[in-house]
Amino acid sequence: MSDHVTWEACLRCGALAAVGWAPVIRIIGAPAENRPVEFDCPAGCQVGLDELAQAHGLPAHHSSAGGPGQRPQAADGGGPA
Ligand SMILES: [Zn+2]
Repeated sequence: MSDHVTWEACLRCGALAAVGWAPVIRIIGAPAENRPVEFDCPAGCQVGLDELAQAHGLPAHHSSAGGPGQRPQAADGGGPA
């Protein structure tokens, strides 16, 4: 579901791909900014929305370094048996 759609050159193959845009609130209290929320290349390329946003001069949706989602490590060995 997107507010409007523009046709942009695909980052992978350069073909015109449909990009759906919608206002996204990144920071609570800050005004929403239009960000790509859909990408549909006729060639079926998989382009990340963050990648797309950055191609349009927008910051990535999530902070790149040390996000909140830490990968759980295999808790195996080292603990008290
Ligand atoms: Zn493409």
